[in-house]
Formats: sequence, C-alpha cells, structure tokens
Amino acid sequence: MNYDEIFPKIISHAKEYGFIFQSSEIYDGLGAVYDYGQLGVELKRNIMTAWWKAMVQMHENIVGLDSAILMHPTVWKASGHVDAFNDPLIDNKDSKKRYRADVLLEDHIAKFEAKSLKDTQKRARKEGWEAGSEEFEKYLKNNRNAVKAREAQAKYEEALNTEDLTKLRDLIIEFGIVDPVSGSKNWADVRQFNLMFKTQLGATADTALDLYLRPETAQGIFVNYLNVQKTSRMKLPFGIAQIGKAFRNEIVARQFIFRMREFEQMEMQYFIKPGTQMEWFEYWKNYRVKWHKTLGLSEDRLQFHVHEKLAHYADAAEDIQFQFPFGFKELEGIHSRTDFDLNQHQEYSNKKLQFFDPETRESYVPYVLETSVGLDRTFLAHMSNAYQEEEVPNAKGGMETRVVLKLHPLLAPYKVAVFPLVKKDGLQEISRQIIDELKLDYSVMYDEKDSVGRRYRRHDAIGTPYCVTVDYETKDDNCVTIRERDSMEQVRVPISSLREQISKRLSWRELLG
Ligand code: ATP
Repeated sequence: MNYDEIFPKIISHAKEYGFIFQSSEIYDGLGAVYDYGQLGVELKRNIMTAWWKAMVQMHENIVGLDSAILMHPTVWKASGHVDAFNDPLIDNKDSKKRYRADVLLEDHIAKFEAKSLKDTQKRARKEGWEAGSEEFEKYLKNNRNAVKAREAQAKYEEALNTEDLTKLRDLIIEFGIVDPVSGSKNWADVRQFNLMFKTQLGATADTALDLYLRPETAQGIFVNYLNVQKTSRMKLPFGIAQIGKAFRNEIVARQFIFRMREFEQMEMQYFIKPGTQMEWFEYWKNYRVKWHKTLGLSEDRLQFHVHEKLAHYADAAEDIQFQFPFGFKELEGIHSRTDFDLNQHQEYSNKKLQFFDPETRESYVPYVLETSVGLDRTFLAHMSNAYQEEEVPNAKGGMETRVVLKLHPLLAPYKVAVFPLVKKDGLQEISRQIIDELKLDYSVMYDEKDSVGRRYRRHDAIGTPYCVTVDYETKDDNCVTIRERDSMEQVRVPISSLREQISKRLSWRELLG
C-alpha cells in the first residue's frame, strides 16, 4: 500500500476506534470542526506533555502561561489581524465553490514537483542510481517537470511580491488551473477575506463590545510579557510557552484535522537581545526538528521550507514541513518577529514593554523568536507516520493483515493492556491486581473479550505497545507473557519485574534528556 493512499484509511480508522469524531455528528456535523474521542484525547495529551516537557521543563529560562481566549479588541488592531489577517479567495463561477488562490497555485506547483520525483525514481530504477546519489540529484533538478515547477514557482513568488491580487488570478488562468470539483476554468476575481471569528461581550446591543475569538495564542503571550518578566524576574533570553485553542474562519477547510476552524497551537515566544536573532533562529530550528524526530516522525518526511515572502514584521521565517499522505505541508513555523509585536502593543496601549538590561544599564524592547506548532497537525502527522498494514502469520498457519499504529510508546493512548486468558479460575483477579499495580504510573486497559489473538489485533490498531497475558501457569509461577507491539515478540517475565520491563521504553529521560 502506498503512503499517498492511506489518508482515507486514517480518517476511518480514527473514527472507528474513537480517536476523532466529526463535531455535532448527530446533527450532520459542523464543517472543519472535530472532537477528540476517548483515544484521541489521550494521544493529544501525550503530545502536549512531550512538548511541555521539552520546552518548559527542560529549559530553566522558559515558563508557561494560560491566557484567555477572549482579549481586548485593540489587541487585534495592534497585532495587525484586523487589517491584514486575510486570505486571497477566488470563486469559481460555475461550481460556486470558493478556494484560496495561493493554495490553488501551490498545489499546482507541488504537482510538478511530485511528477519530477516520480520521473527521477523511475529513471533511477532503470539506471541503477542510488537515491541521493549525484546522478539522482542532478536528474531530480533538471528533468522537464522540475524545470516547470521552478518556473511556476518563480512566477508565483513574483506575483506574491507585487501584492496585487489580480496577478494571482492571472497566474491561475495562465497555468490553466481548473476547479478541483467541477473542472471549470471560469474564475471570478481574487478578493481578501478576514479569517477572525467575531463575537460580542455584553447583554444589550448598544453597549456590547465586539470581540474576536483569538486566531493565535501568541498575542496572549505578548500582552503578558511584562507581567511574566517582572514576576519571574527573568533576564533575556527567556521564553513564554503556551498551549491553547485558536480559531480561524478557514474557507478551504479540508484534509481532515489538517485545517480546522477551531484548533490548538503550542507556541513559544523567546524574548532576546536585538541582534542575536539569527543565532536563536538556528538554535530553535534545530531543536524543534529534533523534537519531531525524537518522537518518531521519519527523518525523510521532515524538511525545512523557507518562506517565499516574509511577513512585514519578520526578518527570517521557515516552516518545518511534514510529508502528510497528501504531500509536504506546514507543521510548524519558526519566525524571527523582531520587536514588531511588542512595539505595536506599546504604541496602542501606551504602556512601556521594555527590558532593563542590568549589564548595559539600558532599556529596550526585546526581539522575539517564535516557534509555533499545530497540536492537531502534529497529531495527524503521527497518525499518518504510524499507520501500517503488515502481513503476519495467523493462528491457522496462514497469513493475515494486521493494522498497527507504530506510535512512540510515550505517545500511545494506552501503554499496557492486560488480558486474562479466560474469564474464570481466578485469572481475572490476577489481571486486576496487575492493573492496580500499574495504573498510577501508566494508562492501562483491561480486556477480556474474544481470543487473545483478536485482542492483540485490537491493541495493535490503537498502538498499545505492551500486552500482558495472564494464563493458568501464572497461578503457579507468578509469571506473565508480555508481548511487544512492533516485533510481536513474547517473553515470559515474573509479575514482579513487569514494571521494570515496561518502563524501558517509556522513559522521558531517554527521550528528552
Ligand atoms: P497555513 O499556511 O497552513 O494556513 P499558517 O502559516 O497560517 O498555516 P501559522 O499562523 O504560522 O499557520 O500557525 C502556526 C501553526 O498552527 C501552523 O504551523 C499549523 O500547524 C497550525 N495551524 C494554523 N492554522 C491551522 C488550522 N486552520 N488548523 C489546524 N492547525 C492550524
């Protein structure tokens, strides 16, 4: 099974096992809004814990924050979101569907890139080139589709830089891009559309204050910069980290939890001395990509992507992209935001947001280096990376397909499943005792239904790294069989050493230390 074919399977798997449900499904759902089910919530929490540990616990100079979703409306004026948090949209006149013009163009370019890679791989097989060899790379760079991708990319970047929306439409026409639904080329003009959700504070219409649901968590950090700096007595460089909900009225909300209207971000703003931003940019780029790899995302599915066009406040920006089954897409942004945000808030609030440097005895507005990763996108990346279908021997001597989620054990929703071989003769009681022994440290599940083989399959499918079976011999020798998810190896161990066996692969120390 090819990786690019697994996406529909992941969506149905996520629903079938209780990872993700469509929001308000009994009312036919709400577009691009999802709920995390009983397993999803565990996986999501484990990702959050891994992030929090790596960012806050492992850095003496980074502290956490949990700011409110609702903020004073001027925050969004100062941040630029009221005036400039827009997407360029284009309507198709025939299908009446609305698309993001930049996404249509980027998808078009990505198609040439994918074709170029396919051509290169085909040629490499014929010629016997190794992937990554000099010949391979040369062909990858110079084949017909690679050249087309480069030319299209150059035109796209030029159009973006003019800030003239008609240029984006012209390119859509020039490239012959069709509506993915209807195949029509009948495009209207490109228009800007603000992505913030509006709401109101207050009871009566005339006194109500118009508010926005925050479209990012970062501004909560900026407006608390001084509160945190003063009360924690931090010196530069120091960081503030936050995990929380963000809301965007996305028009092209598709690809499951990749692009949602309500989602969660894990952001860290690192306040630094002006002039040191490039050094920290490199540090955080490397640290963050290492984090993704350590948690098990395949190295060859991660890449950096330099922004074609820098936002007006940024002096460097790169994305960490992950190869989802539908292509390489942004997972995390690393942005050098200069002093833009704090300066803006100083101006709009009339409050000083500076740092007094005791060494130079000067006050100045710090620069900011931001790392911003989508929690839901990280979740989807892990589901995509971990989902595998394998041919394995079955109990009858034949072969069968097992679906296995090869999640990092620390991310797996359940760490251990405990099975009594049969539902009688005291085996259930022993199983319960084992559970009681482990449940304070690990999320553990008791499972007594169906054959042990079926129970293994069920736990493979949800990524449980260890299954422990209690059988008749246990009553005599106090040993149980422990079966490991990926290798499917089974070993018999004394109940007393179970915790030690399990803890081997469940160590944060080994992961982040
Ligand atoms: P995109 O270009 O894909 O819209 P962005 O550049 O607007 O993303 P940022 O504003 O940099 O995204 O947000 C930081 C992170 O938040 C992104 O890297 C992504 O992981 C996540 N994110 C942004 N928008 C969404 C969304 N609608 N649904 C889920 N995650 C999102």
